[in-house]
Amino acid sequence: MLTVLSGGTGTPKLLQGLALLVGQENLSIIVNTGEDLEISGLYVSPDIDTVMYTLAGVVNEETWYGIRGDTFEEHERIKREGKPELLRIGDRDRAVKQHRTMLLKRGTPLSAVTRELCRDFNVLANVMPMSDDRVTTRVYTEAGPMTFHEFWVARRAQDRVKSVLFEGAESARAAPGVLEAIEKSEAIIIGPSNPVTSIGPIVAIREIRSALEKVRVKVIAVSPIVGGSPVSGPAGALMQGLGYEVSPVGVAQYYRDFVSGLVIDNRDEKLAPKIEELGLEVFLTDLLLPDLPSRVKLARSVLAFAGVKTNGPTLRKSG
Ligand code: GDP
Repeated sequence: MLTVLSGGTGTPKLLQGLALLVGQENLSIIVNTGEDLEISGLYVSPDIDTVMYTLAGVVNEETWYGIRGDTFEEHERIKREGKPELLRIGDRDRAVKQHRTMLLKRGTPLSAVTRELCRDFNVLANVMPMSDDRVTTRVYTEAGPMTFHEFWVARRAQDRVKSVLFEGAESARAAPGVLEAIEKSEAIIIGPSNPVTSIGPIVAIREIRSALEKVRVKVIAVSPIVGGSPVSGPAGALMQGLGYEVSPVGVAQYYRDFVSGLVIDNRDEKLAPKIEELGLEVFLTDLLLPDLPSRVKLARSVLAFAGVKTNGPTLRKSG
């Protein structure tokens, strides 16, 4: 059994590889909900949906958001009415979000709702929100405080970042199953996600952070930063704003309290000694993940680095 901490773009690529190698039923995935928001009366949980759609094999891999081949009639209709939506929500995707919103309104916790939605999509992995309590990532910039989506989607990360707060994290409890998964796993993997706004909210929950600090198994992170910049998204601007170097060294500094090893790209080899000085083991490989073979290869390396045995070279079919 493996536990993976995930956001909604980089880590899902690694999840595809891990699911093929070990089988979805052996994966517990703790997903960031700091970017959850309401759009047109719907409760939108972008990272949970991307993880779920990825494991169901229906994710739109051009955007790592929504369902492949979806239509956007309702989104366009709402736009024509003069109330444009901050995120592009497809019609099938909207139906999933409507179902979630209805269940939440009935009082079902987000973790149980997520289980039900995953069951509908035949996802066998144990996909869990980090918490059933609401945690909201707030980016404080020179232009004022804003949510992650205002910062990134509406304003394209143009504002200089001063600090990032995870509102509600202080009192938030880990969702049911999260701590157990961490305690029982053969290894913990922090995928190549934005350290500040995807992994940051998860580890801001005290129970989760201290569970990660306590485990005896390896906690392996994969760098989302390759050759001095993120592969995609605003991780660079956020890390820089918080005073971290935009490099795998900065990633290592951010994670050093609870991570035992960092996977970095071959082209960052010269940085390995600096990361080792921080007390982390380093594994070098190719971290650009444009296709399934590259994702399976990374998954294999991560498992080897974490000391997890797989059943030889035969790939297991994912759920
Ligand atoms: P978000 O919820 O959409 O912000 O998703 P994540 O935090 O999971 O993903 C964003 C991060 O994934 C960015 O920091 C990217 O640099 C990283 N990422 C995306 N694709 C790749 C890839 O192919 N390789 C690596 N190493 N990182 C990637």
